[in-house]
Amino acid sequence: MKINPAKKMKVIKKNQKMGMYENVMQQFNRAADLMELNPSVRKILAIPNTEIVVNFPVKRDDGTVEIFKGYRVQHNNALGPYKGGLRYHETVDIDAARALATWMTWKTSLAGLPYGGGKGGVQINPKLYTNSELERITRRFTYALGDNIGPEHDIPAPDVNTTPQMMAWIADTYMSTKSTSERSKHAHVVTGKPVGAGGLEGRDRATGFGVVIALKEWASHKNTTLKGKKYILQGIGNVGYWASIFMQENGAILVGVQDASGSIYNAEGINPDNLFTYMTDNRGFIKDFAHAEALPNEFFFGLECDIVIPAALGNQINEDNAYEIKAEVIAEGANGPVDGAANDILLERNIDIIPDIFCNSGGVIASYFEWLQNRNGEMWTMEEVLEKLESKMKISFKKLLKASVKYNTDWRTAAFIEAISRVEQAYLQRGIFP
Ligand code: NAD
Repeated sequence: MKINPAKKMKVIKKNQKMGMYENVMQQFNRAADLMELNPSVRKILAIPNTEIVVNFPVKRDDGTVEIFKGYRVQHNNALGPYKGGLRYHETVDIDAARALATWMTWKTSLAGLPYGGGKGGVQINPKLYTNSELERITRRFTYALGDNIGPEHDIPAPDVNTTPQMMAWIADTYMSTKSTSERSKHAHVVTGKPVGAGGLEGRDRATGFGVVIALKEWASHKNTTLKGKKYILQGIGNVGYWASIFMQENGAILVGVQDASGSIYNAEGINPDNLFTYMTDNRGFIKDFAHAEALPNEFFFGLECDIVIPAALGNQINEDNAYEIKAEVIAEGANGPVDGAANDILLERNIDIIPDIFCNSGGVIASYFEWLQNRNGEMWTMEEVLEKLESKMKISFKKLLKASVKYNTDWRTAAFIEAISRVEQAYLQRGIFP
């Protein structure tokens, strides 16, 4: 791997990593300046509405009690109830929850949904707990949040390390706190549930599917297709796995994967189905997969490829690796995977970035369909879901392109301008109480 020494020097000097909230606020401020956002609305949107931190006790299997820290940040609800995932990870803290909640406001607005933005989670490594402990942690966290969540107020969903099963536990716990006659009206307190517990056909694959729709739109904008394009994938969980399945359907070739256990590479291609079968028997990890070579993590983003799909955590592409990227496009499956410094380096290098608030919006769009399905007592089919999702994403991409031409700006700033404008309108039309 060749590294330009001059650039490397710069990296070492400036290697002050950006916090996630600092990243989202830099994106917001750039858009707000360019669109000349109303100054009063700007003050409101520059800070979350509500920040909830709960410390709650849970009994471990051995009878000892452990205290857990949970977060829920509700950024803005001018367009509708707060909406956004719950994450179980050691990196969950108030900065991460704030940043992710803020991105949700812009994501739901850009997608044209009647939602605001929220996000939260528990600071925990879930791999260290048994299934029954995770059930108690999830139920007790839900109970601690109480009426700070609710089907018409704040609607959580899955995120990193949270599963449809956990969403079913949240729904069940929340519903159990209501009177018997009211219970059934509350199933849509959470989305991303298993299909048998009120979930939506296709919600599992919606984010990954949406990432590939975004890439297909990018390809058609560039007069090309995904067929034969080589790509690398960071994170092969819900988003990454389904993205790899739909990329395969479109003839793209997976050449590198990184997850929490390490990195692997095969220039001839890695079959996602084979990899996933291997992972199922390997505690969900890619490490030691026989049909690819192991690679030090620091070389991952510098691999030869056409497309990078980061689908793990935030700030993964930063000054340390932005100069090494060979791809022509980055499709942000994860939230905030490219930090502010890397964003500018990549734009300067003419690498396209399909911004997270558009690229991974398939998940929240399908969550909206699930919420509608529960609210209206309907049952949607997989075909209906994927068709409606595709059409919504295509509309968002058109809006983003139009704003980028109108304001002569990059796609991320354009997406933010579109999203912020909708919320600005709501405030300007309603006024500020009292
Ligand atoms: P997941 O828990 O299903 O998978 C996470 C993946 O990231 C796993 O493969 C894990 O091994 C990997 N990972 C964790 N730490 C890593 C590290 N340090 N280096 C490399 N890989 C690492 O999570 P998910 O639901 O697929 O979410 C992934 C990203 O997509 C997150 O940023 C999330 O906010 C975003 N997102 C998820 C959804 C959704 O519907 N699940 C929707 C929109 C955005």
